[in-house]
Amino acid sequence: LLELVGLRKSYGANEVLRGVDLRVRPGELVCVIGPSGSGKSSMLRCCNRLEEASAGQVIFDGRDITRADVDINAVRQQIGMVFQSFNLYPHLSALDNVALALRVVQGRPKAEARAAALSALERVGLSHKADAYPAQLSGGQQQRVGIARSVALQPRVILFDEPTSALDPELVEDVLQVMRQLREGGMTMLVVTHEMAFAHAAADRVVFMDGGVVIEEGSAADVFERPREARTRSFVGRYA
Ligand code: ATP
Ligand code: MG
Repeated sequence: LLELVGLRKSYGANEVLRGVDLRVRPGELVCVIGPSGSGKSSMLRCCNRLEEASAGQVIFDGRDITRADVDINAVRQQIGMVFQSFNLYPHLSALDNVALALRVVQGRPKAEARAAALSALERVGLSHKADAYPAQLSGGQQQRVGIARSVALQPRVILFDEPTSALDPELVEDVLQVMRQLREGGMTMLVVTHEMAFAHAAADRVVFMDGGVVIEEGSAADVFERPREARTRSFVGRYA
């Protein structure tokens, strides 16, 4: 569904992606792990062209979306993104945060947007908080609203950039649980995470990045229990 081919990205003279190849098949949950600065966020942001790649291709649904003639706004409707900082509007209720996206991005009428927003909040277990403002929600609940906002738009794939790393430890599990449920519902997900236990247990495939390249990828069991590369071994060994 989503494929990166020889993806390169430089910020000025600093080349942070040096030929990344990665593939996400429909229905897969792929976790990307790796040290700070290895280019994980840059890679993710190239997937929907929040950053422009310097070279290489991003193939989405069989089409190279790095081409100039692609309507990137149309593509972005199909590629959801959930950030580390929840990016909710503080003056809008949970329901309105989700409904606003549906009205602005998809032009849905108000009543229809609210109904779809409520159903998305139900999917993340927060329909009872529909009228709460972000400040009245825990970080974990705010992130679940962020996920609901993405899910409501019915994207083909959702990109997550460290969705739990801004959360207190006791709130992390609720968010991971929602992600597992999405996976069971068939959502395709590409997740950058430092939650090794989650990656180990929930990912269909794990990709280890270091220095702007994919060092190793495989099943979660392969990467965590039988890493082939010394660098992978040393990275995952710290969490064993
Ligand atoms: P972390 O685990 O800390 O989030 P990461 O793997 O996501 O790290 P990136 O954020 O992709 O890494 O950053 C890779 C490199 O690119 C870093 O050296 C960073 O300083 C640099 N970088 C990232 N964004 C920019 C930018 N907008 N302008 C210039 N350099 C950047
Ligand atoms: Mg990052």
